[in-house]
Amino acid sequence: CIIPPRSEVNGCDCDEKLLDTFNNGDLHERLIALLHRPYFRFFKVNLDRKCPFWNDYSDKCSIPDCAVKTCAADELPISLRDLSVSNVQAQVAEACAQEEELSSVDYSMNADQKAEIVKWEDLQDENFCLVDDEGASDCSYLDLSKNPERYTGYVGFSPNRIWRSIYEENCFKPSNGSPTFSLAQAMQYETCFEKKAFFRVISGLHSSISIHLCALYLPPGPFGQWGPNLQEFLRRFDDSVTDGEGSDRLRNLYFTYSLLLRALVKASPRLKNEKYSTGDVLEDETLRKDVQAFLDIIAVNPSKFDESKLFSGEPAQAHALKEEFRLHFRNISRIMDCVGCQKCRLWGKLQTQGIGTALKILFSDLQTIDDLKLLRSEIVSLWQAFGRISSSLVKLAQFRSMIQAGSARG
Ligand code: FAD
Repeated sequence: CIIPPRSEVNGCDCDEKLLDTFNNGDLHERLIALLHRPYFRFFKVNLDRKCPFWNDYSDKCSIPDCAVKTCAADELPISLRDLSVSNVQAQVAEACAQEEELSSVDYSMNADQKAEIVKWEDLQDENFCLVDDEGASDCSYLDLSKNPERYTGYVGFSPNRIWRSIYEENCFKPSNGSPTFSLAQAMQYETCFEKKAFFRVISGLHSSISIHLCALYLPPGPFGQWGPNLQEFLRRFDDSVTDGEGSDRLRNLYFTYSLLLRALVKASPRLKNEKYSTGDVLEDETLRKDVQAFLDIIAVNPSKFDESKLFSGEPAQAHALKEEFRLHFRNISRIMDCVGCQKCRLWGKLQTQGIGTALKILFSDLQTIDDLKLLRSEIVSLWQAFGRISSSLVKLAQFRSMIQAGSARG
């Protein structure tokens, strides 16, 4: 593994300005309009699965309306109301049930329990993350447009433990042997291309979550109004407050954007053939055309993200590293069941699933992209995750304008 020059970090020439220009106008508006269509709006997820890593967690968010709103069956598109359980779905449903039984296991599992986990995970063998099944009865449909990602007041020990656990236990251990793994260390000292890329994807997701909560913030008190909170943004991203880490956190946001963009472009032939069935023939036909038009637009983009630069070393080593990468990411998807606040858990699960789907598209050993098996929930999460990061770029530009306007006023 080599350290790439900064201009071309991890196969991605993240030219932020070009990506801003590409994303922040008509493209973003088209994307958000697509994501509000019935096919993309409804996401089925199990938010009640127990945390497999520790028992002492509780649902904590200080904003009263932070609970998720589920939707009634008659609000759903017809095709989702009577979703039949296919063979594959039945297998995954069985796996879900097995995981329920195993949900209280901790790191001190016995050999039989470990074998059971391996069996469950084998059912989703090629996946980079564990996917809830749309046929499973313990999952509920949520209308994402009614559950916006925003400030929830989920702060303190619980979320900090999740992030720490993700970075310190589930990202790769630092090569320099240090017991903890900070962003600064990863950016400066991690020399392995792939490990650094892994860290950057997670950090980019973390930045996106932070930007969303800063952009839709509710100040305390009875007269507080939802809106952007520049102080909160600066606390998380200003270099002078974050010991110089803020710029790297933002750079990683563009990295995650580029990775998702590349996955959509690569899967384009497969995504163009999807039926996007909601049971409304006219809606399905127009959605298919709109998706195809969108995929044609993003085919020409300024991102230089090149997945072939990753896992390109000596074959046996590259394979082992990819396997490690996949297992680490799966663990992160499981840790989402430990997120204390329901709305945070919803968006955390959806976005890790979307990134997991992108990794599956980019790194599965397939003859052709047509061989790629994607569930509806994987397609929805991939698009929605891209939509979240795309919105973060727009909101970031708004924060930058506020900062500029503030300094112009002196
Ligand atoms: P945190 O954001 O908790 O960060 C912890 C530490 O990680 C920081 O001190 C810093 O050292 C490091 N760090 C921070 N940013 C980065 C980065 N981009 N890259 C690398 N390292 C970094 N809160 C909401 O209000 N709404 C939500 O929708 C929401 N969703 C969440 C989803 C998940 C999966 C999780 C785990 C948490 C979510 N939270 C949400 C909580 C939120 O992310 C913060 O944890 C919370 O606001 C407390 O922030 P903090 O200042 O303590 O730092």
